[in-house]
Amino acid sequence: MAKKVVKKGKKPHKNKPTSKKYSKYKIEGDKITRERFCPRCGPGVFLTNSKGRFYCGKCHYSEFESKAEKKD
Ligand SMILES: [Zn+2]
Repeated sequence: MAKKVVKKGKKPHKNKPTSKKYSKYKIEGDKITRERFCPRCGPGVFLTNSKGRFYCGKCHYSEFESKAEKKD
């Protein structure tokens, strides 16, 4: 006798927000400028900029925007 599979109710489908990768590309004339990408994951995985820090959501790599900022 086969095991009874308990079927759970279907989860309601929710639309997830898109990664908005297109917003990381900017075309200026013939040039395509890209946002900073992750040095670990390589180009294609962009770093998000928050409060002067760059952060990779994939490998959790983080980098400070101003590395060698001079202090007065
Ligand atoms: Zn990464």
